[in-house]
This record gives sequence, structure tokens and C-alpha cells, in this order.
Amino acid sequence: DVLDKGLEKTKVSFFSKITRAVAGKSKVDDDVLDNLEEVLVSSDVGVDTTLKIIERIEARVARDKYVGTDELNSILRDEITFMLTENQSTDVEDFTVAGDKKPYVIMVVGVNGVGKTTTIGKLAYQFKQNGMSVYLGAADTFRAAAVEQLDIWGQRVGVPVVKQKMGSDPASVAFDAVSSAKAHNADVVIIDTAGRLHNKVNLMNELTKIKNVMGKIVPDAPHEVLLILDGSTGQNAFEQAKQFTAATEVTGLVITKLDGTAKGGVVLGISDQFKIPVRYIGLGEQMEDLQVFRRKEFVDSLFG
Ligand code: GDP
Repeated sequence: DVLDKGLEKTKVSFFSKITRAVAGKSKVDDDVLDNLEEVLVSSDVGVDTTLKIIERIEARVARDKYVGTDELNSILRDEITFMLTENQSTDVEDFTVAGDKKPYVIMVVGVNGVGKTTTIGKLAYQFKQNGMSVYLGAADTFRAAAVEQLDIWGQRVGVPVVKQKMGSDPASVAFDAVSSAKAHNADVVIIDTAGRLHNKVNLMNELTKIKNVMGKIVPDAPHEVLLILDGSTGQNAFEQAKQFTAATEVTGLVITKLDGTAKGGVVLGISDQFKIPVRYIGLGEQMEDLQVFRRKEFVDSLFG
């Protein structure tokens, strides 16, 4: 399926490295642990999370005296599951359950090129497939291409796109989009924002302004602030997560392009380091290639 196919590269790479890490060894010793540390770091798990995992395995080895390398897969499976923050909410149904969250307002943030527009299109498609009415707001008014791309997705999926001319105030577009969605009794409205990481204060001010405007129309909006990260960019993704979480309250992550990387360990590292649930993962360029993140499914697919 989409998940297995999308994680194929990571899986193949990860297990071939593990095989090398334990070659000729029957028990987990310091050498094996050193190799394992390298495997995790080179899979973009991140140094902090890697060290946590290694320490936990060390403790287990110390306790059990002998741990065979044949047990390593099942141990890793436990540890990886432990490190992943479970995605408690976000099933599309959740969005419509609470009547007071109508329209359900999703603000999407992230730098250019990470797959923001594509993810918005895919989300709109999923919501629509689930019988919900969707509005899109083109509040990235700094790039003509961003508005055009969102428009194309809107047409493809068959949902209205609220936009203004290039260079107009993003908060004003957000206001229009949320107002229209509300006036038309829409279930969900997704707002695209500009992905410029000029400086922290600017970014913070801009996002705060957009949020405040939405809250004037729908109390508690935005209900979700999704940060989109490109899973194939390793340390850059960590850095962007740091900057955006400092600038605004991010409630969920979307990690894209996992199909194109052998370093899917980034999901693990980011989830652990930022303690923000991964809501969705991007596994391809097509409309269907976005999946709700489920910790168990993810781990099953990796080890299955
Ligand atoms: P934006 O600048 O952040 O809005 O990025 P776009 O949505 O335009 O995406 C940039 C490129 O990444 C496009 O070519 C997309 O087709 C591609 N892309 C987005 N998500 C995924 C994904 O999950 N997998 C793959 N393979 N490509 C993706």
C-alpha cells in the first residue's frame, strides 16, 4: 500500500545498516551499540534521540546481562514506538464532531518548497472524500506562483480558493477566506501562509496577526496549526521546526517526501525532540499520497 511503498527506501537502508552493524556478533556489546548509534544518526534520527535510545538499550543490556543480536530488531521496534509521539486526534471525522468548531480552521505554515501547497491540496481532497465541504485561503500573497499553485489544486479537487491580488495583506486574505467559509457553512477552511523565514520577530508578528484575525470570526480559531517539513532535508527540517515552534504555537506536524528518502528516521527524531504529534505523512506527489500518521502502522510498516 501507500505507506509500505513510501517507506520502502528507509526500510531497506535501515535494515541493511543494522545487518552490517551486528555482522559477526551474537551479543549486543559496546561495539554493536556504537555501530547502532551510527546507524541511527545516519538515518536522521538526530543525536539527542539517538543517545536516548542507545542509553535505554544499554540499561537493558546491563539488566539482562546477555542480549542476543537476534533480539535487536524487537528491541528497536519497542524503542522506536516509545519515542514516537502518538497522534491522538486528527482523523478527519474529528473535525466535524464538534459543532462549535465549524468551520474547522487549519493554518498551514512552513518554508517554501517543503510541499506546503501539495499537502493543502491533498488534505482538501481527503476532507472532500469524507463528505466535508472545504475552503482554501491563499494567504501566501508574496509569491504569484503560490496562489496559482493553490488555485490549480482547488480546481483539481473541486473546492473554492479565496484569494486577493499579489502583495495584499495575508491577514486580510485569511479574514476573507474564513468569513466565506463561515457564510457558506463549510466544514473546514485551510489557510496557506508565506514561507519566508526572514527573522523570528517578523515571522511571529505575521503569523500572530493572521491568527488574531481568524479568531475574530471563529472563536478559538485556528484549531490547528500544521507545520510542514520536508522529510528528506534532515537537519534543515529540525532547524525549521525549531524556528517555527519558537514563532507560533504549532499543534501538529506534517512530514513530506518520505517516499524520496532513505532517512525516514527524521520522523522519530522530530517527534521526540519537539513533542508535537506528527499528524500526517507525505508519501508521494499524488492526491492520495498523504496519510494520517498512526504510530503503530508506521512501525509495523517499517518492521513488517
Ligand atoms: P511549497 O513551495 O511548500 O508549496 O511546495 P509544493 O507543494 O509546491 O511542493 C514542492 C515539490 O515537492 C512539488 O514538486 C511536489 O510535487 C513535491 N512534493 C510535495 N509533497 C511530496 C511528497 O510527499 N512526496 C514527493 N515525492 N514529492 C512531494
